Amino acid sequence: MHSLRSNLDRRVSPCSNFWSFACGNWSSNYVDNFQLVEQRYANAMIAVLTSSRLRDPSRLFKQLQDYFTACVAHREEQMQLPRELLSGDGFEWTRATARFRKHGLNGVFFDEMADVAYNDSFSYVVQLKMPVADNNYSPLKPETRLERDLRELREKYGNEDPLLQLWTLSELKREIPQIDWQIYFEELLEREPGQLRVQISDVEYFRKLGELLRESSKTALESYLSDRLAQFVREANLDSTPHNCIHHMSAVLPLGMNHIYDRYVYRTRSEDMRQLQQLFDSLRGTFAKYLEHNRLELSYEQLSYLHAKLAGMQLKLGNLPVNLTSADYSFYNDHYASANFSADSFAQNFWQALRLRSRLQHLALGQPGATLQLKYYYVNDDLFRARNAPYFEHERNTLTVPLVFMQWPFYDHRQHPIFRHSLMGFILGHELNHAFEQEGILFDAAGNEALLGVRIRQKAKFQAALNCAQYSPTASLKERLADFNGLQLAYDTFFGLGHDSHRFEYRPYDFEREFLAPQLFHLNFAQFFCGRLPTAINHDMDDVRVNEAELNLHQFSIDFSCTRHQFDSVGCEMWRAASH
Ligand SMILES: [Zn+2]
Repeated sequence: MHSLRSNLDRRVSPCSNFWSFACGNWSSNYVDNFQLVEQRYANAMIAVLTSSRLRDPSRLFKQLQDYFTACVAHREEQMQLPRELLSGDGFEWTRATARFRKHGLNGVFFDEMADVAYNDSFSYVVQLKMPVADNNYSPLKPETRLERDLRELREKYGNEDPLLQLWTLSELKREIPQIDWQIYFEELLEREPGQLRVQISDVEYFRKLGELLRESSKTALESYLSDRLAQFVREANLDSTPHNCIHHMSAVLPLGMNHIYDRYVYRTRSEDMRQLQQLFDSLRGTFAKYLEHNRLELSYEQLSYLHAKLAGMQLKLGNLPVNLTSADYSFYNDHYASANFSADSFAQNFWQALRLRSRLQHLALGQPGATLQLKYYYVNDDLFRARNAPYFEHERNTLTVPLVFMQWPFYDHRQHPIFRHSLMGFILGHELNHAFEQEGILFDAAGNEALLGVRIRQKAKFQAALNCAQYSPTASLKERLADFNGLQLAYDTFFGLGHDSHRFEYRPYDFEREFLAPQLFHLNFAQFFCGRLPTAINHDMDDVRVNEAELNLHQFSIDFSCTRHQFDSVGCEMWRAASH
Protein backbone atom coordinates (compact mmCIF):
# COMPACT_ATOMS: atom_id res chain seq x y z
CA MET A 1 0.00 0.00 0.00
CA HIS A 2 2.90 2.29 0.72
CA SER A 3 4.28 1.77 -2.76
CA LEU A 4 0.83 2.08 -4.34
CA ARG A 5 0.16 5.36 -2.56
CA SER A 6 3.55 6.89 -3.27
CA ASN A 7 2.95 6.61 -7.04
CA LEU A 8 -0.24 8.69 -6.91
CA ASP A 9 -0.43 12.23 -8.17
CA ARG A 10 -3.32 13.68 -6.21
CA ARG A 11 -3.32 16.91 -8.15
CA VAL A 12 -4.94 15.01 -11.03
CA SER A 13 -8.55 13.89 -10.87
CA PRO A 14 -8.96 10.11 -11.37
CA CYS A 15 -11.97 10.94 -13.55
CA SER A 16 -10.06 13.12 -16.01
CA ASN A 17 -6.84 11.11 -16.49
CA PHE A 18 -6.69 7.94 -14.47
CA TRP A 19 -3.20 6.91 -15.56
CA SER A 20 -1.78 10.28 -14.47
CA PHE A 21 -3.59 10.02 -11.15
CA ALA A 22 -2.31 6.48 -10.54
CA CYS A 23 1.22 6.86 -11.93
CA GLY A 24 2.01 10.58 -11.91
CA ASN A 25 4.49 10.29 -9.05
CA TRP A 26 6.20 7.16 -10.31
CA SER A 27 9.64 7.64 -8.87
CA SER A 28 11.36 4.34 -9.45
CA ASN A 29 14.80 4.25 -11.02
CA TYR A 30 13.51 1.83 -13.60
CA VAL A 31 11.93 2.60 -16.94
CA ASP A 32 9.03 0.43 -15.88
CA ASN A 33 8.28 -2.64 -13.79
CA PHE A 34 9.46 -4.93 -16.57
CA GLN A 35 12.93 -3.50 -16.32
CA LEU A 36 12.86 -4.12 -12.58
CA VAL A 37 11.93 -7.81 -12.83
CA GLU A 38 14.37 -8.33 -15.71
CA GLN A 39 17.13 -6.95 -13.57
CA ARG A 40 16.25 -9.24 -10.67
CA TYR A 41 16.12 -12.19 -13.02
CA ALA A 42 19.55 -11.29 -14.42
CA ASN A 43 21.07 -10.82 -10.96
CA ALA A 44 19.84 -14.24 -9.88
CA MET A 45 21.14 -15.94 -13.03
CA ILE A 46 24.53 -14.24 -12.79
CA ALA A 47 24.84 -15.49 -9.22
CA VAL A 48 24.03 -19.05 -10.31
CA LEU A 49 26.29 -19.09 -13.37
CA THR A 50 29.28 -17.64 -11.51
CA SER A 51 28.80 -19.42 -8.19
CA SER A 52 31.83 -21.22 -6.82
CA ARG A 53 29.73 -23.26 -4.40
CA LEU A 54 27.20 -24.65 -6.83
CA ARG A 55 28.30 -28.02 -8.19
CA ASP A 56 26.28 -28.97 -11.22
CA PRO A 57 28.18 -31.58 -13.24
CA SER A 58 25.80 -31.55 -16.21
CA ARG A 59 27.01 -30.69 -19.68
CA LEU A 60 24.14 -28.25 -20.11
CA PHE A 61 25.21 -26.23 -17.09
CA LYS A 62 28.87 -26.14 -18.18
CA GLN A 63 27.80 -25.02 -21.66
CA LEU A 64 25.80 -22.10 -20.27
CA GLN A 65 28.61 -21.14 -17.90
CA ASP A 66 31.13 -21.07 -20.76
CA TYR A 67 28.78 -19.08 -22.97
CA PHE A 68 28.31 -16.52 -20.22
CA THR A 69 32.06 -16.29 -19.46
CA ALA A 70 32.89 -15.67 -23.12
CA CYS A 71 30.04 -13.18 -23.48
CA VAL A 72 31.12 -10.89 -20.64
CA ALA A 73 34.75 -11.01 -21.85
CA HIS A 74 34.12 -10.24 -25.52
CA ARG A 75 34.53 -6.92 -27.25
CA GLU A 76 32.00 -5.84 -29.80
CA GLU A 77 34.54 -5.01 -32.48
CA GLN A 78 35.66 -8.63 -32.44
CA MET A 79 32.32 -9.74 -33.84
CA GLN A 80 33.52 -10.27 -37.41
CA LEU A 81 31.22 -11.93 -39.84
CA PRO A 82 31.95 -15.57 -40.54
CA ARG A 83 33.57 -15.67 -43.96
CA GLU A 84 32.10 -19.01 -44.89
CA LEU A 85 28.63 -17.48 -44.80
CA LEU A 86 29.37 -15.19 -47.70
CA SER A 87 31.72 -16.94 -50.05
CA GLY A 88 32.88 -20.42 -50.79
CA ASP A 89 31.90 -22.93 -53.49
CA GLY A 90 30.96 -20.50 -56.26
CA PHE A 91 28.57 -17.83 -55.06
CA GLU A 92 24.93 -18.75 -55.56
CA TRP A 93 22.04 -16.83 -53.93
CA THR A 94 19.83 -19.79 -53.01
CA ARG A 95 22.61 -21.51 -51.13
CA ALA A 96 23.73 -18.28 -49.47
CA THR A 97 20.15 -17.49 -48.34
CA ALA A 98 19.79 -20.96 -46.85
CA ARG A 99 23.12 -20.57 -45.04
CA PHE A 100 21.98 -17.25 -43.61
CA ARG A 101 18.72 -18.79 -42.48
CA LYS A 102 20.62 -21.59 -40.81
CA HIS A 103 22.48 -18.96 -38.79
CA GLY A 104 19.40 -17.10 -37.66
CA LEU A 105 19.09 -14.47 -40.39
CA ASN A 106 15.60 -14.92 -41.80
CA GLY A 107 13.62 -12.83 -44.26
CA VAL A 108 16.47 -11.80 -46.57
CA PHE A 109 14.50 -12.51 -49.74
CA PHE A 110 11.69 -14.48 -48.11
CA ASP A 111 10.63 -15.82 -44.72
CA GLU A 112 11.13 -19.49 -43.91
CA MET A 113 9.92 -21.19 -40.74
CA ALA A 114 9.33 -24.70 -39.50
CA ASP A 115 5.86 -24.47 -37.97
CA VAL A 116 2.58 -26.34 -37.79
CA ALA A 117 0.09 -26.38 -40.66
CA TYR A 118 -2.87 -24.00 -40.49
CA ASN A 119 -5.32 -26.89 -40.69
CA ASP A 120 -3.42 -29.39 -38.52
CA SER A 121 -1.78 -27.99 -35.41
CA PHE A 122 0.21 -31.19 -34.82
CA SER A 123 1.72 -31.47 -38.26
CA TYR A 124 4.98 -29.69 -39.08
CA VAL A 125 5.39 -27.93 -42.41
CA VAL A 126 7.82 -25.49 -43.93
CA GLN A 127 6.16 -22.09 -44.05
CA LEU A 128 7.25 -19.76 -46.85
CA LYS A 129 6.11 -16.21 -47.31
CA MET A 130 7.12 -12.80 -48.50
CA PRO A 131 9.10 -10.86 -45.88
CA VAL A 132 7.24 -8.00 -44.22
CA ALA A 133 7.63 -4.84 -46.27
CA ASP A 134 9.45 -3.04 -43.49
CA ASN A 135 12.15 -5.53 -42.55
CA ASN A 136 14.05 -2.97 -40.45
CA TYR A 137 16.65 -2.81 -43.15
CA SER A 138 17.93 0.75 -43.24
CA PRO A 139 20.91 1.00 -45.56
CA LEU A 140 23.40 3.68 -44.67
CA LYS A 141 24.21 4.09 -48.33
CA PRO A 142 21.75 5.23 -50.99
CA GLU A 143 19.47 2.50 -52.30
CA THR A 144 21.09 0.23 -54.86
CA ARG A 145 19.24 -0.98 -57.93
CA LEU A 146 18.73 -4.40 -56.38
CA GLU A 147 17.35 -2.89 -53.19
CA ARG A 148 14.97 -0.76 -55.20
CA ASP A 149 13.79 -3.73 -57.29
CA LEU A 150 13.20 -5.82 -54.17
CA ARG A 151 11.30 -3.04 -52.46
CA GLU A 152 9.12 -2.48 -55.53
CA LEU A 153 8.43 -6.20 -55.73
CA ARG A 154 7.29 -6.28 -52.09
CA GLU A 155 5.14 -3.21 -52.62
CA LYS A 156 3.56 -4.69 -55.71
CA TYR A 157 2.56 -7.95 -54.00
CA GLY A 158 2.22 -6.57 -50.48
CA ASN A 159 -1.51 -5.97 -50.60
CA GLU A 160 -2.52 -9.28 -52.05
CA ASP A 161 -4.69 -11.58 -50.03
CA PRO A 162 -2.14 -14.10 -48.72
CA LEU A 163 -3.89 -17.21 -49.95
CA LEU A 164 -2.32 -20.32 -48.41
CA GLN A 165 -1.26 -23.34 -50.47
CA LEU A 166 -0.23 -26.68 -48.99
CA TRP A 167 2.19 -28.39 -51.38
CA THR A 168 4.72 -31.18 -51.38
CA LEU A 169 8.27 -30.24 -52.26
CA SER A 170 7.74 -31.69 -55.76
CA GLU A 171 4.70 -29.47 -56.25
CA LEU A 172 6.67 -26.45 -55.04
CA LYS A 173 9.43 -27.19 -57.57
CA ARG A 174 6.86 -27.52 -60.34
CA GLU A 175 4.83 -24.42 -59.41
CA ILE A 176 7.81 -22.12 -58.76
CA PRO A 177 10.61 -23.37 -61.03
CA GLN A 178 12.29 -19.95 -60.94
CA ILE A 179 13.92 -20.87 -57.60
CA ASP A 180 16.19 -23.86 -56.99
CA TRP A 181 14.40 -25.35 -53.98
CA GLN A 182 16.46 -28.53 -53.96
CA ILE A 183 19.66 -26.57 -53.28
CA TYR A 184 17.92 -24.35 -50.73
CA PHE A 185 16.58 -27.18 -48.59
CA GLU A 186 19.67 -29.39 -48.92
CA GLU A 187 21.75 -26.54 -47.55
CA LEU A 188 19.26 -25.56 -44.83
CA LEU A 189 18.52 -29.06 -43.53
CA GLU A 190 21.93 -30.55 -44.35
CA ARG A 191 20.30 -33.64 -45.81
CA GLU A 192 18.26 -34.81 -48.77
CA PRO A 193 14.98 -32.93 -48.02
CA GLY A 194 12.75 -35.87 -49.06
CA GLN A 195 9.00 -35.35 -49.08
CA LEU A 196 8.68 -32.04 -47.25
CA ARG A 197 5.30 -30.42 -46.90
CA VAL A 198 5.25 -26.73 -47.68
CA GLN A 199 2.72 -24.09 -46.71
CA ILE A 200 3.21 -21.09 -48.93
CA SER A 201 1.56 -17.73 -49.56
CA ASP A 202 2.47 -14.93 -52.00
CA VAL A 203 3.20 -17.40 -54.83
CA GLU A 204 3.45 -14.75 -57.54
CA TYR A 205 6.00 -12.84 -55.45
CA PHE A 206 8.23 -15.92 -55.30
CA ARG A 207 8.08 -16.40 -59.10
CA LYS A 208 9.04 -12.81 -59.79
CA LEU A 209 11.72 -12.91 -57.07
CA GLY A 210 13.35 -15.93 -58.72
CA GLU A 211 13.42 -14.12 -62.08
CA LEU A 212 14.82 -10.94 -60.55
CA LEU A 213 17.63 -12.69 -58.67
CA ARG A 214 18.60 -14.79 -61.70
CA GLU A 215 19.16 -11.60 -63.64
CA SER A 216 21.08 -9.84 -60.87
CA SER A 217 24.87 -9.75 -60.95
CA LYS A 218 26.90 -11.71 -58.42
CA THR A 219 28.56 -8.53 -57.23
CA ALA A 220 25.24 -6.85 -56.52
CA LEU A 221 23.94 -9.90 -54.66
CA GLU A 222 27.09 -10.36 -52.66
CA SER A 223 27.22 -6.76 -51.53
CA TYR A 224 23.51 -6.80 -50.64
CA LEU A 225 23.95 -9.96 -48.58
CA SER A 226 26.98 -8.73 -46.67
CA ASP A 227 25.10 -5.53 -45.80
CA ARG A 228 22.21 -7.56 -44.45
CA LEU A 229 24.55 -9.68 -42.36
CA ALA A 230 26.26 -6.65 -40.85
CA GLN A 231 22.87 -5.14 -40.06
CA PHE A 232 21.80 -8.40 -38.42
CA VAL A 233 24.79 -8.39 -36.08
CA ARG A 234 24.18 -4.75 -35.17
CA GLU A 235 20.57 -5.51 -34.31
CA ALA A 236 21.58 -8.43 -32.10
CA ASN A 237 22.99 -5.72 -29.82
CA LEU A 238 25.75 -7.85 -28.34
CA ASP A 239 27.19 -5.64 -25.64
CA SER A 240 29.07 -7.50 -22.98
CA THR A 241 27.60 -6.25 -19.71
CA PRO A 242 26.63 -9.22 -17.53
CA HIS A 243 22.96 -8.22 -17.63
CA ASN A 244 22.91 -7.93 -21.36
CA CYS A 245 24.58 -11.32 -21.68
CA ILE A 246 21.87 -12.91 -19.53
CA HIS A 247 19.09 -11.34 -21.62
CA HIS A 248 20.82 -12.38 -24.82
CA MET A 249 21.17 -15.96 -23.55
CA SER A 250 17.55 -16.09 -22.40
CA ALA A 251 16.49 -15.22 -25.94
CA VAL A 252 18.78 -17.53 -27.93
CA LEU A 253 19.04 -20.42 -25.45
CA PRO A 254 15.57 -20.33 -23.83
CA LEU A 255 15.34 -23.97 -22.84
CA GLY A 256 18.63 -24.09 -20.92
CA MET A 257 18.18 -20.73 -19.25
CA ASN A 258 14.60 -21.41 -18.14
CA HIS A 259 15.57 -24.82 -16.89
CA ILE A 260 18.44 -23.45 -14.79
CA TYR A 261 16.26 -20.65 -13.40
CA ASP A 262 13.53 -23.13 -12.57
CA ARG A 263 15.98 -25.48 -10.88
CA TYR A 264 18.14 -23.09 -8.88
CA VAL A 265 16.28 -19.81 -8.45
CA TYR A 266 12.53 -20.25 -8.62
CA ARG A 267 11.29 -21.47 -5.25
CA THR A 268 7.51 -21.10 -5.24
CA ARG A 269 6.40 -23.00 -8.32
CA SER A 270 3.86 -25.33 -6.72
CA GLU A 271 2.09 -22.66 -4.66
CA ASP A 272 2.16 -20.18 -7.55
CA MET A 273 0.82 -22.73 -10.00
CA ARG A 274 -2.00 -23.72 -7.65
CA GLN A 275 -3.05 -20.08 -7.30
CA LEU A 276 -2.64 -19.24 -11.00
CA GLN A 277 -4.69 -22.23 -12.05
CA GLN A 278 -7.43 -21.24 -9.61
CA LEU A 279 -7.43 -17.68 -10.90
CA PHE A 280 -7.44 -18.88 -14.51
CA ASP A 281 -10.30 -21.31 -13.83
CA SER A 282 -12.39 -18.61 -12.18
CA LEU A 283 -11.83 -16.29 -15.18
CA ARG A 284 -12.92 -19.09 -17.49
CA GLY A 285 -15.98 -19.65 -15.31
CA THR A 286 -17.01 -16.01 -15.73
CA PHE A 287 -16.38 -16.13 -19.47
CA ALA A 288 -18.53 -19.27 -19.71
CA LYS A 289 -21.34 -17.28 -18.04
CA TYR A 290 -20.90 -14.52 -20.63
CA LEU A 291 -21.36 -17.14 -23.33
CA GLU A 292 -24.57 -18.38 -21.72
CA HIS A 293 -26.06 -14.91 -22.24
CA ASN A 294 -25.34 -15.37 -25.94
CA ARG A 295 -25.11 -11.68 -26.67
CA LEU A 296 -24.00 -12.35 -30.26
CA GLU A 297 -27.06 -14.56 -30.94
CA LEU A 298 -24.96 -17.52 -32.02
CA SER A 299 -26.24 -20.91 -33.11
CA TYR A 300 -25.94 -23.92 -30.84
CA GLU A 301 -23.06 -25.19 -32.94
CA GLN A 302 -21.22 -21.87 -32.78
CA LEU A 303 -21.66 -21.66 -29.00
CA SER A 304 -20.33 -25.19 -28.60
CA TYR A 305 -17.29 -24.20 -30.65
CA LEU A 306 -16.56 -21.35 -28.21
CA HIS A 307 -17.25 -23.44 -25.10
CA ALA A 308 -14.90 -26.17 -26.36
CA LYS A 309 -12.19 -23.60 -27.02
CA LEU A 310 -12.59 -22.19 -23.52
CA ALA A 311 -12.64 -25.60 -21.86
CA GLY A 312 -9.60 -26.81 -23.79
CA MET A 313 -7.45 -23.83 -22.95
CA GLN A 314 -4.23 -24.68 -21.10
CA LEU A 315 -2.21 -22.63 -18.65
CA LYS A 316 1.56 -23.04 -18.58
CA LEU A 317 3.97 -21.64 -16.01
CA GLY A 318 7.33 -21.08 -17.69
CA ASN A 319 8.33 -21.81 -21.28
CA LEU A 320 9.41 -25.38 -20.59
CA PRO A 321 8.11 -28.82 -21.57
CA VAL A 322 5.14 -29.47 -19.29
CA ASN A 323 5.51 -32.93 -17.91
CA LEU A 324 9.25 -33.11 -17.54
CA THR A 325 10.69 -32.48 -14.14
CA SER A 326 14.13 -31.19 -13.28
CA ALA A 327 15.08 -34.83 -12.93
CA ASP A 328 14.73 -35.33 -16.70
CA TYR A 329 18.28 -34.21 -17.15
CA SER A 330 19.04 -36.35 -20.16
CA PHE A 331 16.44 -34.53 -22.22
CA TYR A 332 18.01 -31.17 -21.44
CA ASN A 333 21.55 -32.39 -21.95
CA ASP A 334 20.80 -34.17 -25.19
CA HIS A 335 19.03 -31.11 -26.44
CA TYR A 336 22.24 -29.10 -26.44
CA ALA A 337 24.51 -32.04 -27.19
CA SER A 338 25.43 -30.73 -30.64
CA ALA A 339 26.61 -27.38 -29.26
CA ASN A 340 30.18 -26.92 -28.19
CA PHE A 341 30.54 -23.51 -26.57
CA SER A 342 33.91 -22.41 -25.28
CA ALA A 343 34.81 -19.93 -22.55
CA ASP A 344 37.05 -17.90 -24.83
CA SER A 345 35.36 -17.22 -28.15
CA PHE A 346 32.07 -15.43 -27.97
CA ALA A 347 31.86 -14.91 -31.72
CA GLN A 348 32.03 -18.66 -32.34
CA ASN A 349 29.53 -19.35 -29.56
CA PHE A 350 27.12 -16.81 -30.96
CA TRP A 351 26.99 -18.31 -34.47
CA GLN A 352 26.85 -21.80 -32.98
CA ALA A 353 23.92 -20.88 -30.75
CA LEU A 354 21.96 -19.51 -33.69
CA ARG A 355 22.84 -22.58 -35.75
CA LEU A 356 21.67 -24.78 -32.87
CA ARG A 357 18.40 -22.89 -32.58
CA SER A 358 17.66 -23.28 -36.26
CA ARG A 359 18.60 -26.98 -36.16
CA LEU A 360 16.23 -27.56 -33.23
CA GLN A 361 13.45 -25.65 -35.00
CA HIS A 362 13.79 -27.84 -38.08
CA LEU A 363 14.33 -31.13 -36.26
CA ALA A 364 10.69 -32.19 -36.35
CA LEU A 365 10.54 -31.90 -40.15
CA GLY A 366 12.79 -34.92 -40.43
CA GLN A 367 10.83 -37.13 -38.04
CA PRO A 368 8.32 -39.66 -39.36
CA GLY A 369 5.05 -37.87 -40.08
CA ALA A 370 6.69 -34.62 -38.93
CA THR A 371 4.40 -34.68 -35.90
CA LEU A 372 4.65 -32.30 -32.98
CA GLN A 373 5.65 -34.02 -29.72
CA LEU A 374 3.63 -32.15 -27.12
CA LYS A 375 5.57 -33.65 -24.23
CA TYR A 376 8.77 -31.92 -25.34
CA TYR A 377 7.21 -28.76 -26.72
CA TYR A 378 8.41 -25.26 -25.82
CA VAL A 379 8.62 -21.98 -27.76
CA ASN A 380 11.94 -21.55 -29.54
CA ASP A 381 11.55 -18.82 -32.14
CA ASP A 382 13.85 -16.33 -33.84
CA LEU A 383 14.01 -13.71 -31.11
CA PHE A 384 16.82 -11.53 -29.84
CA ARG A 385 14.87 -10.35 -26.82
CA ALA A 386 13.35 -12.94 -24.53
CA ARG A 387 9.59 -12.90 -23.97
CA ASN A 388 8.91 -11.50 -20.52
CA ALA A 389 5.20 -10.81 -20.75
CA PRO A 390 2.65 -13.64 -20.80
CA TYR A 391 1.53 -14.74 -24.27
CA PHE A 392 -1.16 -16.84 -25.92
CA GLU A 393 -0.46 -19.41 -28.66
CA HIS A 394 -3.49 -20.04 -30.85
CA GLU A 395 -2.14 -23.27 -32.33
CA ARG A 396 -1.63 -24.75 -28.86
CA ASN A 397 -4.66 -23.03 -27.27
CA THR A 398 -2.22 -22.30 -24.47
CA LEU A 399 -1.46 -19.33 -22.28
CA THR A 400 2.12 -19.18 -21.02
CA VAL A 401 3.31 -17.07 -18.10
CA PRO A 402 7.12 -16.70 -18.31
CA LEU A 403 8.98 -17.35 -15.05
CA VAL A 404 10.52 -13.87 -15.07
CA PHE A 405 6.99 -12.46 -14.73
CA MET A 406 6.41 -14.36 -11.47
CA GLN A 407 8.06 -11.74 -9.27
CA TRP A 408 6.82 -8.83 -7.24
CA PRO A 409 5.46 -6.26 -8.15
CA PHE A 410 3.77 -8.44 -10.77
CA TYR A 411 3.05 -11.37 -8.54
CA ASP A 412 3.57 -12.78 -5.10
CA HIS A 413 1.51 -15.63 -3.72
CA ARG A 414 1.47 -13.96 -0.30
CA GLN A 415 -0.39 -10.89 -1.56
CA HIS A 416 -4.01 -10.15 -0.73
CA PRO A 417 -6.33 -11.59 -3.42
CA ILE A 418 -7.41 -8.14 -4.60
CA PHE A 419 -3.87 -7.42 -5.81
CA ARG A 420 -3.53 -10.75 -7.55
CA HIS A 421 -6.94 -10.43 -9.22
CA SER A 422 -6.44 -6.87 -10.40
CA LEU A 423 -2.98 -7.45 -11.90
CA MET A 424 -2.46 -11.12 -12.77
CA GLY A 425 -6.23 -11.51 -13.20
CA PHE A 426 -6.17 -8.72 -15.78
CA ILE A 427 -3.09 -10.19 -17.51
CA LEU A 428 -4.60 -13.67 -17.75
CA GLY A 429 -7.93 -12.13 -18.79
CA HIS A 430 -6.18 -10.14 -21.52
CA GLU A 431 -4.45 -13.24 -22.88
CA LEU A 432 -7.59 -15.35 -22.61
CA ASN A 433 -9.45 -12.78 -24.68
CA HIS A 434 -6.87 -13.06 -27.46
CA ALA A 435 -8.49 -16.42 -28.15
CA PHE A 436 -11.74 -14.59 -28.93
CA GLU A 437 -10.69 -11.48 -30.86
CA GLN A 438 -11.00 -11.13 -34.63
CA GLU A 439 -7.90 -13.24 -35.36
CA GLY A 440 -7.92 -15.65 -32.43
CA ILE A 441 -11.52 -16.64 -33.03
CA LEU A 442 -10.49 -18.38 -36.27
CA PHE A 443 -8.71 -21.13 -34.30
CA ASP A 444 -10.72 -23.96 -32.79
CA ALA A 445 -10.06 -25.78 -29.50
CA ALA A 446 -7.36 -27.92 -31.14
CA GLY A 447 -5.61 -24.91 -32.68
CA ASN A 448 -6.77 -25.46 -36.27
CA GLU A 449 -8.26 -22.72 -38.39
CA ALA A 450 -11.97 -23.42 -38.64
CA LEU A 451 -14.86 -22.18 -40.75
CA LEU A 452 -17.09 -21.82 -37.69
CA GLY A 453 -14.74 -19.13 -36.43
CA VAL A 454 -15.11 -17.23 -39.70
CA ARG A 455 -18.91 -17.44 -39.39
CA ILE A 456 -18.84 -16.02 -35.86
CA ARG A 457 -16.58 -13.21 -36.98
CA GLN A 458 -19.07 -12.33 -39.72
CA LYS A 459 -21.95 -11.88 -37.27
CA ALA A 460 -23.27 -8.32 -37.31
CA LYS A 461 -22.99 -8.00 -33.52
CA PHE A 462 -19.36 -9.15 -33.52
CA GLN A 463 -18.57 -6.57 -36.19
CA ALA A 464 -20.46 -3.93 -34.21
CA ALA A 465 -18.27 -4.64 -31.16
CA LEU A 466 -15.15 -4.26 -33.33
CA ASN A 467 -16.42 -0.92 -34.64
CA CYS A 468 -17.34 0.26 -31.18
CA ALA A 469 -13.81 -0.35 -29.89
CA GLN A 470 -12.44 1.90 -32.64
CA TYR A 471 -14.26 5.02 -31.45
CA SER A 472 -10.76 6.43 -30.98
CA PRO A 473 -7.71 5.45 -33.05
CA THR A 474 -5.64 2.50 -31.81
CA ALA A 475 -2.26 1.00 -32.78
CA SER A 476 -3.76 -2.47 -32.58
CA LEU A 477 -7.42 -3.37 -32.50
CA LYS A 478 -6.84 -6.87 -31.17
CA GLU A 479 -4.73 -5.56 -28.28
CA ARG A 480 -7.44 -3.06 -27.44
CA LEU A 481 -10.09 -5.78 -27.47
CA ALA A 482 -7.93 -7.92 -25.20
CA ASP A 483 -7.51 -4.96 -22.81
CA PHE A 484 -11.19 -4.03 -22.78
CA ASN A 485 -12.52 -7.51 -22.36
CA GLY A 486 -9.66 -8.64 -20.12
CA LEU A 487 -10.18 -5.86 -17.57
CA GLN A 488 -13.93 -6.40 -17.67
CA LEU A 489 -13.46 -10.13 -17.16
CA ALA A 490 -11.06 -9.70 -14.23
CA TYR A 491 -13.38 -7.16 -12.60
CA ASP A 492 -16.49 -9.31 -13.04
CA THR A 493 -14.63 -12.34 -11.73
CA PHE A 494 -13.48 -10.64 -8.54
CA PHE A 495 -16.63 -8.67 -7.70
CA GLY A 496 -19.26 -10.92 -9.29
CA LEU A 497 -21.22 -10.50 -12.51
CA GLY A 498 -24.17 -8.77 -10.92
CA HIS A 499 -21.93 -6.32 -9.13
CA ASP A 500 -23.14 -2.74 -8.88
CA SER A 501 -20.99 -0.48 -6.76
CA HIS A 502 -24.06 1.74 -6.15
CA ARG A 503 -25.67 -0.99 -4.16
CA PHE A 504 -22.65 -2.03 -2.10
CA GLU A 505 -21.51 -0.48 1.12
CA TYR A 506 -17.78 -1.12 1.35
CA ARG A 507 -15.90 -1.25 4.54
CA PRO A 508 -12.20 -0.64 3.96
CA TYR A 509 -9.84 -3.62 4.25
CA ASP A 510 -7.99 -3.63 7.53
CA PHE A 511 -4.73 -2.77 5.75
CA GLU A 512 -6.20 0.29 4.07
CA ARG A 513 -8.33 3.15 5.41
CA GLU A 514 -8.73 5.38 2.39
CA PHE A 515 -9.41 3.38 -0.75
CA LEU A 516 -12.33 1.00 -1.03
CA ALA A 517 -11.99 -2.39 -2.68
CA PRO A 518 -13.12 -1.36 -6.22
CA GLN A 519 -10.86 1.68 -6.13
CA LEU A 520 -7.91 -0.46 -5.07
CA PHE A 521 -8.70 -2.80 -7.92
CA HIS A 522 -8.52 -0.03 -10.52
CA LEU A 523 -5.40 1.52 -8.99
CA ASN A 524 -3.42 -1.68 -8.84
CA PHE A 525 -4.41 -2.52 -12.43
CA ALA A 526 -3.30 0.93 -13.59
CA GLN A 527 0.00 0.80 -11.73
CA PHE A 528 1.04 -2.28 -13.68
CA PHE A 529 1.47 0.28 -16.47
CA CYS A 530 3.44 2.88 -14.51
CA GLY A 531 6.76 3.93 -15.95
CA ARG A 532 8.39 6.48 -18.15
CA LEU A 533 6.15 5.65 -21.10
CA PRO A 534 8.61 3.91 -23.40
CA THR A 535 7.42 3.93 -27.01
CA ALA A 536 5.20 0.93 -27.45
CA ILE A 537 5.36 -1.50 -30.37
CA ASN A 538 2.09 -3.09 -31.51
CA HIS A 539 0.31 -1.66 -28.47
CA ASP A 540 -0.98 1.79 -27.67
CA MET A 541 1.09 3.77 -25.16
CA ASP A 542 0.62 2.61 -21.59
CA ASP A 543 -1.32 5.69 -20.43
CA VAL A 544 -3.71 5.32 -23.37
CA ARG A 545 -4.22 1.64 -22.60
CA VAL A 546 -5.16 2.31 -18.99
CA ASN A 547 -7.44 5.24 -19.71
CA GLU A 548 -9.22 3.56 -22.61
CA ALA A 549 -9.76 0.28 -20.77
CA GLU A 550 -11.25 2.11 -17.78
CA LEU A 551 -13.34 4.29 -20.05
CA ASN A 552 -14.85 1.11 -21.42
CA LEU A 553 -15.69 -0.30 -17.99
CA HIS A 554 -18.93 1.28 -16.88
CA GLN A 555 -18.31 0.47 -13.18
CA PHE A 556 -15.30 2.76 -13.11
CA SER A 557 -17.21 6.04 -12.99
CA ILE A 558 -19.38 4.69 -10.18
CA ASP A 559 -16.36 3.48 -8.22
CA PHE A 560 -14.74 6.92 -8.35
CA SER A 561 -17.99 8.91 -8.24
CA CYS A 562 -17.27 10.63 -11.55
CA THR A 563 -19.98 12.85 -12.97
CA ARG A 564 -21.26 12.19 -16.44
CA HIS A 565 -19.74 15.45 -17.49
CA GLN A 566 -16.25 14.29 -16.42
CA PHE A 567 -16.49 10.76 -17.63
CA ASP A 568 -18.80 9.05 -20.07
CA SER A 569 -18.27 5.31 -20.45
CA VAL A 570 -18.14 3.86 -23.93
CA GLY A 571 -19.22 0.34 -22.94
CA CYS A 572 -18.07 -1.70 -25.96
CA GLU A 573 -19.00 -5.06 -24.52
CA MET A 574 -18.31 -7.91 -26.86
CA TRP A 575 -19.29 -11.02 -24.91
CA ARG A 576 -20.86 -9.95 -21.66
CA ALA A 577 -24.51 -8.85 -21.53
CA ALA A 578 -24.84 -5.08 -21.91
CA SER A 579 -24.45 -3.05 -18.74
CA HIS A 580 -26.79 -0.21 -19.60
ZN1 LIG B 1 -1.95 -8.81 -26.04
